[in-house]
Parts: sequence; C-alpha cells; structure tokens
Amino acid sequence: MPIKVNGARLWENLMQMAKIGGTAKEGCNRQALTDLDIKGRALFSDWCRKIGLQIQYDAVGNMFARLDGRDNHLNPLVIGSHLDTQPTGGKYDGVLGVLAGLEVMTRIVEEKIIPERPIEIACWMNEEGARFAPAMMGSGVWAGMLDLGEVRASIDLEGISVGIELDRHGYSSHPDPQDKDIAAYLELHIEQGPVLEAEGKDVGVVTGAQGIRWYDVVLTGQETHAGPSPMAMRHDPMRLVPALVQGILEIGTRDEAARATIGQVHTAPFSRNVVPGKVVVSVDLRHPNEQVLQSMHDDLATLVSELTGEDRKLTSILEEIWHSPVVAFDAGLVTSIRRGAKELGYSYCDIVSGAGHDSLMVARKVPTAMIFTPCRDGISHNESEHIEPHQAEAGANVLLAAVLDYLGS
Ligand SMILES: [Zn+2]
Repeated sequence: MPIKVNGARLWENLMQMAKIGGTAKEGCNRQALTDLDIKGRALFSDWCRKIGLQIQYDAVGNMFARLDGRDNHLNPLVIGSHLDTQPTGGKYDGVLGVLAGLEVMTRIVEEKIIPERPIEIACWMNEEGARFAPAMMGSGVWAGMLDLGEVRASIDLEGISVGIELDRHGYSSHPDPQDKDIAAYLELHIEQGPVLEAEGKDVGVVTGAQGIRWYDVVLTGQETHAGPSPMAMRHDPMRLVPALVQGILEIGTRDEAARATIGQVHTAPFSRNVVPGKVVVSVDLRHPNEQVLQSMHDDLATLVSELTGEDRKLTSILEEIWHSPVVAFDAGLVTSIRRGAKELGYSYCDIVSGAGHDSLMVARKVPTAMIFTPCRDGISHNESEHIEPHQAEAGANVLLAAVLDYLGS
C-alpha cells in the first residue's frame, strides 16, 4: 500500500490559515509582506518546527522549511508555492501547495523515512503581484529572471517599497537568493480554470505553460472638436478599432489552444466631446507552442501594418511589451506525477497552465513540474474560490507519490 496523506489534517490546516486575513465573504486578504502575510508565515513556521523542520530565509523574503536527509551535501528537493493572496483572494490559491507540502513532509516524518537528500517546503515571496509588481517576485529573483535591486524599488499604492518591507521584517540580512541551489521543484496548485472540473478529473498533470506575448497597438490620428469637424474630414483613429478588434479575436480562434484577449482600450484625451488623437488597444496572445505563438504574432503584425489603409494621417504601430516563452516541464517529473495519479487510482489528464506560477520561474533553472487540482467553476482570484476536501487530498497524495518517487530514484 502506498503511503497517503492525512486529508482531514490538511483541510484543518487550510481552514486555520484562511482565518489570517479572512474576509467577510469567506475569502482571504493576505497581501505580500503585510503584517498579515508575516502572521500567516509565522503560523506555518510553527507547524514546521513542530515536526522538526528548520526555517531559512533569503534576502528577497523567500522562506524554506527544511528536513535534513542522509546526504546533506546534495541539493534539496523543493516542494511548495506561496502564502500571499490577492486583496479579494481565496483560501487555496498558493496556500494549497504550501500546506500540502507540509502534509507531505509530516507524513515522511511520521513514517520515519530518512530521505537520501534534504527536502524543503518553499514559500515564495509575492507570487500574486497584487501589492507589488511584478508577480512571481521571489521565485523570479531566485531564478535570476528579476533583479533584487529593481525588485526592492517596487512600490505599493502608498509609496512603501519592497525594500522597506524586507528591511522591516528582517529579511534583508539573509543570503542572496541566487546562492541557493535546488535539485528539483514540485508544486501543487489549484487549476484556476474550468477544464478539470468540466472533464470530471481528480488531478491535472501539468506538462508546461503557455507562452505569453503582450502588446500595445497604438493608433494615432488628429484630435479635434466633436462638433465643427464633418465626419469625412476627420482623421479619427477610432475608425480603425472595429477591424482591429475583429482581427485580434480571430487570431485567438486559430486552434483550440490559442488565446487572444483585448483587456484595455484607452483613448486620449479621454473626453466625450473630442475626436481622440490616440487610441491604445492592449493585446494578450497565448499559446502552448512557441512556433504557433510566433505565427500569431506575425498575423498580428500584418493586421496592424495594413490597418490604416488610404488615410495617410492615421498611423498604427505595434509595440511589444512582454514575452514570456513557452515552458515545458521536466519530462521525468511529469511522467512520475502521471504514474503517481494512476497508481493511486485517480482520474487525471494532461493540462497546460494558463496562469503564471512560481514554477514557471523555477523551471528556467531546475527540473520542475506541477500538479493541478480542480476548483469550482474554474474561479480564482476571487473570495468565492472553492475546492472540495477530497480534491485537496487527491492533489496532496499525488504530490507525496511524486516526492517519494523522486527520492527513491
Ligand atoms: Zn497562485
């Protein structure tokens, strides 16, 4: 019989943690580096110390709870996620991965298993990016994708910087994040989408993550009074918007996996009785295949370049803002997760992550994989985010199986 987690204990811990920063609508507000975030971490640390784990930090506020192995010169296997939430976040996004990590570790201790190498639970700093941008801050600095100095300068709406908060909580004196070596990383997370629930699966085997490309399409014309200027004599960039929007949404329908989103349309000046001189349309393109994403990019570039047609006083420019390449998780770890799900008798399917996760940063440096748990109606970043106890338990059991598989190999 495989060793299994204690699902009731995991659930109890999730409910305890949810009280810290708990909102009236049964969600959580535990934003990064606030006093509530630190309080949540203190509760987690207490639980970890009770089972004999040592707590370590780095200078960007990442926290690691370590169980020594037989050979402590070997780099640790790390499991985890994040404890910070959105301002109106739920009880499970991130928290499930950290507390499932604790449950896995607790079972290993209870079974008196001495792992061949150390195991650590990671609690990455500011995954959400709600209070401080960008998201995935702690894991990004660890992975060398973000600069510690720049991250320290990031400020919240009150003008308080990450650096001030790291100093205030005593994190700054800890070692440079990039000094820490990790052998491999596993993360359990809620899906934050509707696929697993719709397919009736217990767990998702995450094979990688969509590539993401962000753009502004900048349309310019001539700003003029809404009354005196006849329609035919205007150079109104708003005229280009319908064809642009339609073209962009079509790019998102090229296959099942493609996504195209227009989340923002800004006009300038923002006035109801002025023909705008400028319209900026945001574009978010995603695809799990980098070549297809590139051809979506090419289609967008062609669309934008052909948009203005005859009117020489209108211009359309495509500005690329961000490109996060496709991430493929480690084939060995993905196989191990799939095997674990199968041996435990859970229904499962492969899935690609559509959201950002610490794993995407960590995967740039070391073998990484993720397990997803379904969430009700695919809703997250919302106080009504919900999973069932048996779903949390299934995810944690698969995580435990993958951990034991890795350590045994
Ligand atoms: Zn998350």
